Amino acid sequence: METGSWLVPTELDHARVVDANGRMRTARAIAVAVLGVATVISLPWTAWWTLGLLLVAAVPLATFEHRLKRSAHPERLAAQTLLLILLVLAIAVAGTGGPASPALPWLIIPCAMATTRFRRAVVVAMAGLTAVVVLAASVSVDPRGFADDPRLVICTLALLVVVAVVTSTLTDAELKHRDNAVLDPLTGLLNRHALELRFAELEQQARLTGGSVCVIVCDLDGFKQVNDAYGHERGDTVLRDCTYEMRKALRSFELAYRMAGEEFAVLLPGLDVAQGVEVASRLREAIERARPGGLKLSMSLGVAAAMGSRVRQEPLLRAADEALYRAKAAGRNRVEATRPVGAEQANGDLGPFEPDDGALELVPGTP
Ligand code: GH3
Ligand code: MG
Ligand code: MG
Repeated sequence: METGSWLVPTELDHARVVDANGRMRTARAIAVAVLGVATVISLPWTAWWTLGLLLVAAVPLATFEHRLKRSAHPERLAAQTLLLILLVLAIAVAGTGGPASPALPWLIIPCAMATTRFRRAVVVAMAGLTAVVVLAASVSVDPRGFADDPRLVICTLALLVVVAVVTSTLTDAELKHRDNAVLDPLTGLLNRHALELRFAELEQQARLTGGSVCVIVCDLDGFKQVNDAYGHERGDTVLRDCTYEMRKALRSFELAYRMAGEEFAVLLPGLDVAQGVEVASRLREAIERARPGGLKLSMSLGVAAAMGSRVRQEPLLRAADEALYRAKAAGRNRVEATRPVGAEQANGDLGPFEPDDGALELVPGTP
């Protein structure tokens, strides 16, 4: 499941940028306070303007979490903030002695912070950039001073490598742990917990942008009979094959989750009901064609969508579930969707949708 972004190529990478918030809040506050106190204590030996620079870095840091929650591209905002801090520190180093500046090791801080939100490749790139900045803020500012005594620059570069290696090793361990928390082991799909995290983020975005979010809930038809007739193992194969077919039929931003047993959900940010029905029909046809586990099987699907502040997880999932129930009741292997109150219950026919109404109200299904 790719997101098309180098900073966060997978959903998991994306989720990590956002959920680092809670974990990083205290660490960030302590970091800012400690650096501030150190700068103030050092003032008798340092220029006053260094305190001004500290404030320049403190403001975006203090408002960071607030802006991140409202951003459509939190990963970009996080990366920009780290680059800004690196720039401010580089100016401080260049202005306080270059290769002899006592603040030289502080240039490593943004790279260390990057490991809490970003994958290894991003951290490696950040470490490379930091090394260039260390050299630029020291050697290029005072080449003579560097030639006379390069020890601080050398020690800073060594520290950079050690910190990057140690922190990204910790990150890898954390990511593995997190994989287990949000990935379903049988199918490799994201699980219900991951759906909840993603939904919370989409709710925020929809509220701000007024955009729509569509949900499809899918359930295999008569799956219990597969287990009963061919055994649980064959059932597992069917589930894996179905997952594979669904992933193939979905585009990169259309994310599938395993909700329970043989029930899946697909999240479609920016899509309305009519567009969601098209995706659902594609999924239905894919399963019908595929013969998962060598068996002829079908899937029923329910579609619901909402816009702006009406995008809320619980009612949206319930609406999709009710539509799914109607698909089952109407004979299975079909797609049903929410429709506006008062619309005719067109049995079997998907009928006219009102894509922009954002309504979750349902016409009662025929039992
Ligand atoms: P319907 O068409 O109404 O959806 O009928 P159904 O038989 O698909 O639905 P039901 O909910 O009665 O059965 C779902 C079955 O899925 C029951 C359970 O044993 C099976 N199941 C749940 N999780 C797994 C799993 O991980 N592996 C396998 N093999 N079976 C599972
Ligand atoms: Mg079923
Ligand atoms: Mg079921």
